[in-house]
Formats: sequence, structure tokens, C-alpha cells
Amino acid sequence: MPVPPKDSTSFLEKMIATPSPTGFEARIQKLIRAQYEQYADEVHRDVHGNQWFVCNPKGSVRLMLSGHVDEIGLMVRYIDGDGFIWVTRIGGTDPVQLWGSRVNVHTKNGPVRGVIGKKPIHNTPPEDRTKGPKLEDIYVDIGSKDKEETLKKVRIGDPITMAVGFERLPNDFAIGRAMDDRVGAFVVLEAMRKFSGLLKKKKNPDCALYAVCSVQEEVGLRGATTSAYTINPHVGIGVDVGFATDYPSENKKQIGEYKLGLGPILHRGANINPPLADMMEGLADKHSIPYQLSGDGGVTGTDAGAIQISRGGVAAALVSIPNRYMHSPIEMVSLQDLEYSSELLAQVAINLKQSQSFIPEPNLPE
Ligand SMILES: [Zn+2]
Repeated sequence: MPVPPKDSTSFLEKMIATPSPTGFEARIQKLIRAQYEQYADEVHRDVHGNQWFVCNPKGSVRLMLSGHVDEIGLMVRYIDGDGFIWVTRIGGTDPVQLWGSRVNVHTKNGPVRGVIGKKPIHNTPPEDRTKGPKLEDIYVDIGSKDKEETLKKVRIGDPITMAVGFERLPNDFAIGRAMDDRVGAFVVLEAMRKFSGLLKKKKNPDCALYAVCSVQEEVGLRGATTSAYTINPHVGIGVDVGFATDYPSENKKQIGEYKLGLGPILHRGANINPPLADMMEGLADKHSIPYQLSGDGGVTGTDAGAIQISRGGVAAALVSIPNRYMHSPIEMVSLQDLEYSSELLAQVAINLKQSQSFIPEPNLPE
């Protein structure tokens, strides 16, 4: 089973190690630029912090691939008289996951280590022991003696991320904070690297590839919205994590069946352009790339949702990397799924033709 090359996997590890809470993505964009600009003809940035690489800009069909580089976290809201930090959420952080964790407060002088504390079970009334915390119960303790000491280091509005890195597990599984959506951005970048290799063999392909590292997805798909407007793509594919359901407590009857290591999740439904979906399934079959199908009755809460309704409409699709324990500090993915996904997207890019229509035709038997 294929996994990304060693250099690429160690770069993914660096991406995970680099904190990138929503609204504070510039550092990871710089890291990515240094690694991947060698594969692109152009690099662009915008005022929101989006960054995109263009391969073969003369191509007549603009394909936008988008993976978001922001991550959920917390933010300093208030510092009390004893120097404890009270927080607000960045994106969909789950307070239940937080007690007992180490965190980093990202200050102008670098990260400050803290912990999310809680009184011991002994001192918790029996009726409260089984209850999870609410956001208002969560505070960060950086070991200060008083408010003045905290204020010397921390500023209101400093973002906070979990102090958890990347780790390999058996079966090419990996865990880490913010697999959502470092792995999606990584797949987009790897697809570009592969496409740039394929370009050397194929003369004048129709596809101009726009590999977007979007920002602010976790607070409403904002980076994909604005970058799609600027790029004005004909075809747009979001790459994000999707719910794996191959572990205890997930409900396959409601969510569907998705396993780690069985390939990307390809979606069907109103958010997805049918000819594009057919093309992607066809290319996956042709190149023996496994995939898992998802039926989505409404709009997916991903960059694909924003790209689809940019300007006069874009032929959109979504590739999801199966992910266990979404929005926790120990999200788990399969490295094999990353390789399958970037391979499929590189094939989509190299096979895109100007003559291909993405206007849906009747596709249900009468
Ligand atoms: Zn995401």
C-alpha cells in the first residue's frame, strides 16, 4: 500500500507542528511556500492570508483545489486577579476534550506553556462527576503568581492551541492535533507536486492548476469564498477531513460507513457536480485508487460548499480524508488515504479537457 514519500511525510509532520489557529495562519503559509513554490509557476497571497500556487497558468481550464490551513483552538478573553486566563473558542472546539491538556498560548514573544486545570474528582460532588465541562468552566493556568505576571506575557486576543504533535501508529495510521485540515492542504500540495511532474511528459495540458491553502474555514469558509472569487475557477475541489465511522460509538446508520485506509471519501449530492463526480470515480477506477462513497443530501460544510456558489457557479466536488475523533487533539488518519487522494487529484488535473462540459445532463433513468 502506498504512503507519501518520506520527505513529504516529514513535511506533513512540520505542518502539524506549526500552530495555525484561525486568523493566525501566516506562519504556516510561509513554511509551505518555502517547501512547495519550487513546483509552481506563480505564488499568490491575499489580504485574508490565503495563499495559492499556480501550475501551468496558460491552461484554459482553471482547476482550484482547496485545503484549509487554519485550525480550531481557544483565545485569551479575560485574565482574572489570580492570573488565570479565561477563554473563548476559535471554531468548533469541544470543551469536553480539554480538561487535563497542555496548551500553548501564542504571544508576541513566542509560545507560553499552560495547562487546562480542574479540581480533583475527590472534591467534585458525585452528581457532577460524570458531566463534561462547559466552555465557561475552562481556564488556562500558565503558572503565574498573579494577574501582573500573566499580563507581562499574555495579551487579550492571543490564540491558544493544544500542545500535541504528530505521531505514527501501526498500519500507516497517524495521530495529531489539527489533522483537520493539515492533511487536506497537504493533499492539495502533493497533488500539485505530482501534477508538475506529469506536466513534463504531457505537452500543453488544458488544466491551469490553482493549489489553494485557504484560511478561516473553521469560522465559515471565509478564505475559500474570497480566493474562489479571485481565481474564478471553472472546476473547484475542496479537500478536507470527513467522519470515519470505524470505531466504537459512531452510528453508521446515520453517518454512513467510512474506514481509515480504504481511500478518500468521494461525495454525491447537491453540493457536487454530477459530471465531475463521474469523472473522478472513473479516474479512480482506471488507476486502481480505492474510494468510499458518501451521500450528502444538503451542502457540505467545507470549502467545496463555498466554491460551488462563487460568482455564476463552479463545478464543485469534495474529497474527504477519513478522520477519527474529529475536533479532538488526537485526530487519526491513514497516510495511505493521503497518497490515494493526491494521486487522484493529480489525475483529475492532467485529464481535464477544455472540451469537457460540466453542465449536468439527465442521469436518472425515466
Ligand atoms: Zn476542516
